[in-house]
Amino acid sequence: MGTDLSIQAVSVDYTLKGRNFTALSQASIDVPAGTTVSLVGPSGCGKTTLLNVIGGFIRATSGHVLVGGIPVSGPGAERAMVFQADAVFPWLTVRQNLLYGPRIRKALDSAALARCDKYLELMGLAAFADEYPKVLSGGMRKRVDVARAYVNDSAIVLLDEPFGALDDFTKSYLQDELIHLSLVEPKTTVFVTHDIEEAIYVGDVVVVMATRPGRVAEHIEVPFPRDRVASIKDSDEFQQVRQRIQRLLRQELTSAMHREDGAA
Ligand code: ADP
Ligand code: MG
Repeated sequence: MGTDLSIQAVSVDYTLKGRNFTALSQASIDVPAGTTVSLVGPSGCGKTTLLNVIGGFIRATSGHVLVGGIPVSGPGAERAMVFQADAVFPWLTVRQNLLYGPRIRKALDSAALARCDKYLELMGLAAFADEYPKVLSGGMRKRVDVARAYVNDSAIVLLDEPFGALDDFTKSYLQDELIHLSLVEPKTTVFVTHDIEEAIYVGDVVVVMATRPGRVAEHIEVPFPRDRVASIKDSDEFQQVRQRIQRLLRQELTSAMHREDGAA
């Protein structure tokens, strides 16, 4: 069912050439157990930085990330990451890739094997279970990546522009498969993308981010039930949400440019 995830006033400063700059300022987002929040925003607004804080890979300069009410202090198996570049191991078969997490945690029990079979089936990978990744297309490798996060039984799945490198058809199929997964096994999910339609389609809430400094600009509820099909993208309601987000992003970009002019 997932676990509640709460991001509370998280700021991250980086030091670049001896100077401090704020990559993320006071980001607060709640992701209730089993729901999906999409983060959308221009390049450089701190999306990856925020995922890395949630993943426990970098520390917030201030603020907290709570998983089930407990502050995150480092990486953990209950949080799985999926990146744009697929991270499948070429020397392992598809099945071995899926079982990697349970194996290194010494939790390769019958439940893990059953989960592996379930996700091989759900992601259309069953026929490729004993193949090596080199015979798979980019879309199939991405399925291995996503399935691995689910087989690992992590309560929280963090995806950083996972479909960014795929063609439109493959991307659309994978979005549908993600929706399907979220129905059969709801997980607390943070989905980062710079594609507005994708953000709306896969999310229960879209968090719009802005730059300079990177921050949360707005939370937008998606007015569709989780059980959705690609044709909703053509509906007026969907397009209205898309336009609203597009306007927001444009406004933010314009005011960021003005701030820069002022600073120069
Ligand atoms: P996004 O994923 O939204 O494109 P990032 O989180 O990757 O944004 O980056 C936010 C800002 O922080 C950018 O200006 C980026 O150049 C900067 N940045 C990211 N990682 C580091 C780092 N390790 N050191 C210094 N600056 C960084
Ligand atoms: Mg990024």
